[in-house]
Amino acid sequence: MKTLQELTRPNIWKLKPYSSARDEYKGVEASVFLDANENPYNGPHNRYPDPMQWEVKNTLARIKKVDPRQIFLGNGSDEAIDLVFRAFCQPGQDNVVAIDPTYGMYQVCADINDVEYRKVQLNENFQFTADKLLAATDMHTKLIFLCTPNNPTGNDLSRQEIEKVLNSFDGLVVVDEAYNDFSEAPSLLADLDRYPNLIVLQTFSKAWGCAAIRLGMAFASTDIISIFSKIKYPYNVNQLTQKQALEMLHRHYEIDRWVKILKEERGYLESEFAHLPCTVHIFPSDANFFLVRVTDAMKIYNYLVGEGIIVRNRHTVSLCGNCLRVTVGTRVENDKLLDALRHYQDS
Ligand SMILES: *Cc1c(COP(=O)(O)O)cnc(C)c1O
Repeated sequence: MKTLQELTRPNIWKLKPYSSARDEYKGVEASVFLDANENPYNGPHNRYPDPMQWEVKNTLARIKKVDPRQIFLGNGSDEAIDLVFRAFCQPGQDNVVAIDPTYGMYQVCADINDVEYRKVQLNENFQFTADKLLAATDMHTKLIFLCTPNNPTGNDLSRQEIEKVLNSFDGLVVVDEAYNDFSEAPSLLADLDRYPNLIVLQTFSKAWGCAAIRLGMAFASTDIISIFSKIKYPYNVNQLTQKQALEMLHRHYEIDRWVKILKEERGYLESEFAHLPCTVHIFPSDANFFLVRVTDAMKIYNYLVGEGIIVRNRHTVSLCGNCLRVTVGTRVENDKLLDALRHYQDS
């Protein structure tokens, strides 16, 4: 791996971050706060939140078995994705490499930041090889993006190939584990200390059932996390979100129950889809959604919209011709979808 200084944009490496009132005074003994130009009325929403979210991080660190200083929290995973570009990629000069198809935000953030986005197509089983991915890199490649389980294909990427990339690539490897809770594959978090070039992304939006509060997590070496903390907006995670996250973390056993039910429902949907006349192929899934090739994705998508049921049409995505992406819902919702599809007439 190159040194972190070599990988970081020079202006970011040199940056002296904005220092907020809550950064400068961190003690808790004080009882009179006249430093941040807040309104003394309308508690508790009158006070700026902790810019570093230590209470949430300390609780999360115990659950995830990492050091709290190895955690970055942001406004969804999308903030962490944007920050890796802003921290490491010189616009108009550096590039990133990613599997294709995958989550669309990586390319959008690359385009916004004027960073070349190099796609390496997955094989017909939606797997990749480290060699093919590394062959697309050059001296200006700062990041490789991997998403496992991958969106929209739903499958886990090969652990062996991921580790080969981590061992061979001299830049940073972002592994997006947004759907890891639904997979049998262990998280790479357990190996964080072994790979100084690893950045793991997770989110409160899926298994944790908190898409509304916008809270994403990045886990990496304390040095990488320090860079993110330096360039983020000072109060990037608001107080309401921090409060709700703490509440969820304190009843994290409930998430296991949701995940168990959703995996059972995924199995139910897959076995029922196998009997539908409109199904061509069901791709195996390790996530809370699955990809299904149908007779005519556009027609079936529009038919379902007419029935008030929305799935994701992935027909135009590479390797996903005539594919719909179906999120696993409750049994009632899943049965509504199945009923509608049983009544679908090919014309
Ligand atoms: C849904 C999803 C996320 C989560 O994004 P948030 O901004 O945290 O809601 C991240 N990565 C992938 C691949 C996803 O599908």
